[in-house]
Amino acid sequence: MIVAGIDIGSRAAKAVVMNDGTIISSVICDTGPESVKTSQMTMSRVLDGTGLSLDDIEYVVATGYGRVLVPFANENISEISCHARGITWYFPEVRTILDMGGQDCKAINCDADGRVTNFIMNDKCAGGTGRFLEMIADVLNIPLEEIGEVALRSKQAISFNTICAVFAKSEAIAYLRRGVSKADILAGLNEAIATRCLNLLKRVSLEKEFTITGGIAKNKGMVAQLGEKVGLEPLLGEDPQIIGALGAALFARDRGQGKAATVEAKVQYGYADGTGNYFITVDTARCDGCGKCVPACPSGIFELTTGDGGQLKARVKEEARKKLAMLCPGYEACLSNLELNCHTVCPGDAISHAW
Ligand code: SF4
Ligand code: SF4
Repeated sequence: MIVAGIDIGSRAAKAVVMNDGTIISSVICDTGPESVKTSQMTMSRVLDGTGLSLDDIEYVVATGYGRVLVPFANENISEISCHARGITWYFPEVRTILDMGGQDCKAINCDADGRVTNFIMNDKCAGGTGRFLEMIADVLNIPLEEIGEVALRSKQAISFNTICAVFAKSEAIAYLRRGVSKADILAGLNEAIATRCLNLLKRVSLEKEFTITGGIAKNKGMVAQLGEKVGLEPLLGEDPQIIGALGAALFARDRGQGKAATVEAKVQYGYADGTGNYFITVDTARCDGCGKCVPACPSGIFELTTGDGGQLKARVKEEARKKLAMLCPGYEACLSNLELNCHTVCPGDAISHAW
């Protein structure tokens, strides 16, 4: 059975074609301004030289932020599920995944079947993402693909006060003017990013079977720094950047074989900043999609969406995720003003707050 997975990320589009469980082609392309055109170009590139056309592919699953705009996909599945599924094809023992993408970082726990059991995303600020590293490579005038090697040559990493994209850029420029080597600047940034990733990983369960996925996992300096900070040697797939597309292809194979979808279990939305932790967790296994939390929240934080299994599930709106502290006073403070709130109306006790 020939199937394909396509992952339209914010910076790169990836595709994998499999025949009877073997990868026969994979490709990584730049994401263009239009997701539809990017998906068509990526699929055409991955089929180049295979002797196959799109008509030969029995099932296509799309993932990534542009997944809903892939016109030839039979189904779309979240990148969190696809990264968990893809990495367990290489390493069934992996239980903790750090996915470092173009514009966000995610920490994911999964089980032996590649099912997501817990997940948290940090997309509040660009620091530590692919976009951030591109900007720093540009400031230092080093090709992006070389910054990992350059960082490894550092004699003494300098310390950064912030990895906020705007301030880190100014700090990097100031250090350059003072004659600090590019290697020491990059090593310092890697260390700051690794500290931030460790804090994210601590919010899920950090198991010793640990991996890094996404384009940044190809940056040797960053991987070395993360391994040191976390205290674990990460297991790395052959090409960590195609793990999401591989997971999508594996889901496509499941569907072709008539297998049902897996669903994410607990999904955490929010962030931690200098003022505290602000996370709302929706346990999708407990959520029956009744929708009562949507009108119950005075700040309009929730919405219903179709989950990977095709069932309705509650989630925190994308626009609310990054400003939760402003929208929600926390469960107890909210309850003191309201007779009904998201917790009291939920029949499955699916929502929890960490404030
Ligand atoms: S505690 Fe209140 S404000 Fe916060 S999410 Fe629930 S209903 Fe909305
Ligand atoms: S009220 Fe609870 S069960 Fe109903 S949609 Fe919201 S989270 Fe799901």
